[in-house]
Amino acid sequence: MTSITILIPCYNEAKGIPALAAALNAELPKIEQDLDVELSLLFVDDGSKDETVNVLKATDFDAPTRLIVLSRNFGKEAALSAGLDAHWSDAVIMMDADLQHPIALIPDMIRKWREGYDVVYAFKSSRDQEGLATRLLSKAFYRLVNYGSRTELPKNAGDYRLLDRRVVAAIGKLPEAQRFMKGLYTWVGFRQIGIPMTVAERSTGRTSFSPIRLLGLAVDGLTSFSIAPIRIMSIAGLLIATLSFLYMAWIILQRLFFEAPFNGFASLAVLIAFFGGTTVLGLGVVGEYVAKALLEAKRRPIYVVADEIELSDG
Ligand code: UDP
Ligand code: MG
Repeated sequence: MTSITILIPCYNEAKGIPALAAALNAELPKIEQDLDVELSLLFVDDGSKDETVNVLKATDFDAPTRLIVLSRNFGKEAALSAGLDAHWSDAVIMMDADLQHPIALIPDMIRKWREGYDVVYAFKSSRDQEGLATRLLSKAFYRLVNYGSRTELPKNAGDYRLLDRRVVAAIGKLPEAQRFMKGLYTWVGFRQIGIPMTVAERSTGRTSFSPIRLLGLAVDGLTSFSIAPIRIMSIAGLLIATLSFLYMAWIILQRLFFEAPFNGFASLAVLIAFFGGTTVLGLGVVGEYVAKALLEAKRRPIYVVADEIELSDG
């Protein structure tokens, strides 16, 4: 029979796990019966500081369930990588622990997979509840990251998705330590399709992704998957240099032929501030890429496993 693993990364989710377990125990048997599949659960504890591990151990799961405990908090991308490396089935579905990803989509994912798609991702059908700034920034992000790229990152799609085992194997072979998962899913290719979803409210607790952390993630994504920022800096540099040259010619002409008096301070101050700003910005952009190269050069493992525990054999 086809077997599918549901991979759930957890960071400080102790309070939400009872609700999650109740939902999974209620929904999964129906899915198994309707679609003739065998489902199992794989939790990855990403160095939670609360009782997540103990609560998981104390909870009854009706499906076969395993838990991988990482030695500290490595971040969601690393936790997902740990789970993908450890899975043992025909396909993996990655899902958040906070019930924001509707379990009701799982049958659709499995059906699309059976139709021959290797990646079935859920995308937010609307971002209306989000603030204007978030929406504009995310638009700008997708514009930039997809600019001049051979592979297009699907808009508003996150980590809730099904991956065929071949896709998991391909992702496992990618050597980079800085794992921007959304980019990796796309980079490996294969047949991909999206299904719309409405993201639910968090069951309990708060998101661990603050606006600052999201911005950091966006910069990471951009610098790992696109050199558009460097291109834009080069083009802007060329433009500024050309304009400055014209301005210089204009000043010389003025001096030689029109005897115009110089009113220098304002223009000088503006020019110095402008060039100072653009220079530092350019250095920052280059610095991001150099830092990325440094982190890759260290060749450290993506995560460290502390424990692997069988929680239930179904
Ligand atoms: N998560 C994780 N490691 C982290 C942060 C989050 O494994 O460092 C998990 C978290 O437990 C949840 C999922 O990633 O299952 C999504 O996190 P969260 O709900 O905080 O983010 P959001 O839904 O706002 O994107
Ligand atoms: Mg969430």
